[in-house]
Amino acid sequence: MKRTLHILLSLIFLIPLIYIGSLVLEKFNFVSSFTKNNSKTFSIETNSDIKEMNSLPLFKYNPHAEKLGIIKKENTSCPACERKREYVYNGPFYSEDQVKGICPWCIKDGTAASKYEGAFQDAESCEDVDKQEYLVELTTRTPGYSGWQQERWLSHCGDFCALKGYVGWQEIKYMKDELTKDLDEIKSDYNLTQEQLEKYLVNNGSLQGYLFECLHCGKHRITVDTD
Ligand SMILES: [Zn+2]
Ligand SMILES: [Zn+2]
Repeated sequence: MKRTLHILLSLIFLIPLIYIGSLVLEKFNFVSSFTKNNSKTFSIETNSDIKEMNSLPLFKYNPHAEKLGIIKKENTSCPACERKREYVYNGPFYSEDQVKGICPWCIKDGTAASKYEGAFQDAESCEDVDKQEYLVELTTRTPGYSGWQQERWLSHCGDFCALKGYVGWQEIKYMKDELTKDLDEIKSDYNLTQEQLEKYLVNNGSLQGYLFECLHCGKHRITVDTD
């Protein structure tokens, strides 16, 4: 008798608990399906111009293009997509036609390069990489950069490095050991002593450094040119 009472009492407590529990679960389900539905609508909306205007495409070999002024926030009427855009490419483009005002999206999807049979980087001035597709991505779907002379693109671990920035000795002296091989080559190419290198290698100076970073091992590399 006592045991039956015990079971009955337990059930009296358990049933409402289970009921409340199921309500909570349902609510959670509702919340998650609600956000799912909502994000769907949201993503449909953001596929429009608004999203494109607000988020720039990412370029693995030139991830800081905007910071480096290679992509500028400036209105353009892009000749490749024939649309008004808020960002414009401000770097080299090698093609038969003089093309100005390319938008970053037409770089990213290859529209500009294919429409004008052009390239953002001279393939002859690139170091070797393991796969042809890396070269295609760099030359036809990556913003270039503006050097004094023909821009070189460095590689490491079988792939192109990412351009990190425009530098002088001040910006790289803390990594001089890591850059020894490249710096020795530069000294020999330009016939410079270490002292001269440190003196003349100045950002925005007549001996300009271009710093790269390996996408695979993180090693830094540098190349320079003169005005
Ligand atoms: Zn465009
Ligand atoms: Zn590497």
